[in-house]
This record gives sequence, structure tokens and C-alpha cells, in this order.
Amino acid sequence: MRKIRNLAAVGIAATALLALTACNSGTPGGGSGNDGGDSGDAASEKPYEVASDVTLEGSPTYDRMVEAGEVRIGVKEDQPGLGYLDATTGERTGFDVEIARWMAAELGFGEDQIEWQAIPSANREQAIVNGDIDFYVGTYSITDARKEQIDFAGPYFVTGQGLLVAADSEIESDADLTSDVTVCSATGSTPIQNIRDNYEAQTEEFDTYTQCVDALLNGTVDAVTTDELILIGYAAAYPEELKIVGEPFSVENYGIGLPKGDDALRDFMNTVLEENPDTWSAIFDMELGDAGVTPEQPEVDRY
Ligand code: GLU
Repeated sequence: MRKIRNLAAVGIAATALLALTACNSGTPGGGSGNDGGDSGDAASEKPYEVASDVTLEGSPTYDRMVEAGEVRIGVKEDQPGLGYLDATTGERTGFDVEIARWMAAELGFGEDQIEWQAIPSANREQAIVNGDIDFYVGTYSITDARKEQIDFAGPYFVTGQGLLVAADSEIESDADLTSDVTVCSATGSTPIQNIRDNYEAQTEEFDTYTQCVDALLNGTVDAVTTDELILIGYAAAYPEELKIVGEPFSVENYGIGLPKGDDALRDFMNTVLEENPDTWSAIFDMELGDAGVTPEQPEVDRY
């Protein structure tokens, strides 16, 4: 019962977590196993359509997409409910992935014209600066430091840093992150920086949160910290072994990472987000409706 009480404290119903797991364990949706053409069968159920009358002047990124006939999108692929690749079906699912598909569709690109690239937290800015991808959608917090290198459309979601621990752990909140505790997070992420700057705890870092969760399951670290929205997906995958504790202790505004200075593309995406709250809600319901999270579309920040 203890676990359920703790989950309830962060507003998550255990049944909802199980539903999230089920929903991410791979619905065979016509996935062809390749990187571009899967999910075709589900296209008719999407709450958006591929636009055919796009006018977007002054965006070098869009011009490149049109010329190449494809859009290259950076994502996560190991974050259930957000950015997830089912290795068996080749199907990509999750709120972030669906936001990415929506933006691509508004720009006139369908699933078979998307080239997905899985890029870990630490390499996102560089991938955008290098021009390896056209944009990035994957639990990417808008920060001033990142804005020195890239730009962000959005935010399209707000969450906060949380803690995932073993079901029998005595850690109850971030107040317990003392010097004898080892906390794991992803290299180059805002949560690991927050721990370093403001807590006594020891840190362990990996490229991905999956590696941190493995370390937690092995007992080599005491907690995993990152955005609560990410932790919900992992907790759902291990309902017996892991639990989320405490209240969120940061504010993370998720944005769409874009090449710096492409204001035309940024304005275009911000307008899509602003003018289509029903599409946003439908995507949220489709991907995170069972996660026990309050669906609230944040106001776009046209900085
Ligand atoms: N949202 C945080 C960040 O951008 C943590 C999640 C992540 O690493 O993607 O750093």
C-alpha cells in the first residue's frame, strides 16, 4: 500500500500507470520495421492532416526540407509515453513523437518523409547547430544557456524534476538527497545540473535515463532524477520495483529545438501551437491520457 500512497501523492493512479505501460508495450499498428514508413495504418486516426498548401517564407530550415523532400527530426526513443521506439514493430510512439509528427504534417511532410534520429540529451544543441536535424522534440527544456546556441518554439508542456527510487527506499523527497546518496541522471540535462548546483548528493550520469533506471534496479544508485513526466513512464514499467516520491522540485518547460535565428520556422510552430488547442488536447489524450497527468497546454512564449 505504501507505494500506492506515494504515487497518489504525485497525482498518479496506479491503474493509470499500468495502462500507460500497456499502451507503450507495442500495439502492432502496421509498423513496417523501417525507420520511415511505420504507423501508416494509424494515420487516419490522427488529429491533424498533412498540409498541402504551406507558405513559409524566410526559413532556411524549411527550404532545406522542401529541397530534400524530407524532414529530419531528433527525438528520444527510450522514454515510454514520450519518445519511444518499439524495437519489434519499429513503431514510434509518445507525446513528443506525436508533437513532432504534427509539426511535420503542418509543414507538409507525412510519416514517410520523416527521418527520425535518436539523440541523447547531451548532444541535442550540437546536432541542431551542425545541421544534422531540422528540429528536435524530446523532453527538451527551454533554458537561457541553450538559447545561446539554438532557438525554441513553445513551450508545449510544463513538468518538473522528480525522483524515482526503489519501492523499499527510505528516500521520500529531494530533502533526503544528502551526501551519502547517489543520484543518477543524464549527461547534459537540466536535472543533473540542478543536483550538482544545489544538493550534497553524489551524482552518476549516463547518456540515457534507461541506463540510470538499470543502475537503480541493480542497486548501484539510490535514485534517478529527471522530469516527473519521464519518470512516470519508467515507474509504470516497474510497478513492483520502483516508486516516484516527493513533489516536483524544478520547472521544466518543454520546447521544440530549432536552428538559431530561424524566426520564420519558430513563428510558424508557435502559431500552430497557439491556434490549435484541440489538436494539442487530442494528442495529449492519445499519448498520455492514461498517465494521470493534468492536461494543460501552456502559453506559447514568443521571446
Ligand atoms: N527536460 C530536461 C532537459 O532538457 C531533462 C530531460 C532530458 O534530459 O531530456 O535536460
